[in-house]
Amino acid sequence: MRTAVIATRGLTRVYQAGDVAVHALRGVDLRIEAGEYVAVMGPSGCGKSTLMNTLGCLDRPTEGVYELLGRDVSRLTRDELATVRNETLGFVFQDFNLLPRTSAIENVELPLLYSAVPPAEQRSRARTALARVGLAGREASTPTQLSGGQQQRVAIARALVTAPALLLADEPTGNLDSQTSVEILALLREQHAHGLTIVIVTHDDEVGAEAERLLLMRDGRVVEDRRQRARRTSA
Ligand code: ADP
Ligand code: MG
Repeated sequence: MRTAVIATRGLTRVYQAGDVAVHALRGVDLRIEAGEYVAVMGPSGCGKSTLMNTLGCLDRPTEGVYELLGRDVSRLTRDELATVRNETLGFVFQDFNLLPRTSAIENVELPLLYSAVPPAEQRSRARTALARVGLAGREASTPTQLSGGQQQRVAIARALVTAPALLLADEPTGNLDSQTSVEILALLREQHAHGLTIVIVTHDDEVGAEAERLLLMRDGRVVEDRRQRARRTSA
């Protein structure tokens, strides 16, 4: 069997809030192959962001195993996780998370800053990534000078600049109007068509309906795993 991009077994996350233990994930078993486009849906508080943060190596599971590209990352140190994150993953958030007074191209270059990529090459890769999201010519603009949709494009370029194996998007259209949301989702689909593996959290039924695979979460568990259409064949 091929190595999955994501394989989890019994993934559990308990938050300690004072005296109260919050069971955000209650044993998630998941396997996601290269080239999949997976939507994650479920009511507020069911554990979607916790799952994404765990898959995104921003947080460690309390129990269970998480293998990313065949490597067990569930017990790595914070520094080791940061390295994995930087080399393997792209993350897109609802609130863009850009540096507000830093140019678009410098925002996109950030993930390359501490890499072995030479500075001139960093600049050209960031330029290419911005062009890929339709922002050629806006390299010098700061986020404060860009619309919400353009800011999310910058964030997507930043996520793509390291050529990640996996893009995780947590409600990437949550702060955008409906027309802009459609454009951002089309952009993500386009990246998927080029072979990128994507996991996206969404509240939007239409987005869920058009994904190849839909995971429904409830109370810390995946309660439904629906394959809605044939997976696109990847190389
Ligand atoms: P969703 O993204 O589906 O809305 P979350 O993963 O954010 O759900 O949250 C799942 C549960 O974990 C909720 O009950 C939430 O209140 C709780 N939770 C999330 N983050 C923390 C935290 N840092 N400390 C304590 N409880 C948390
Ligand atoms: Mg959330």
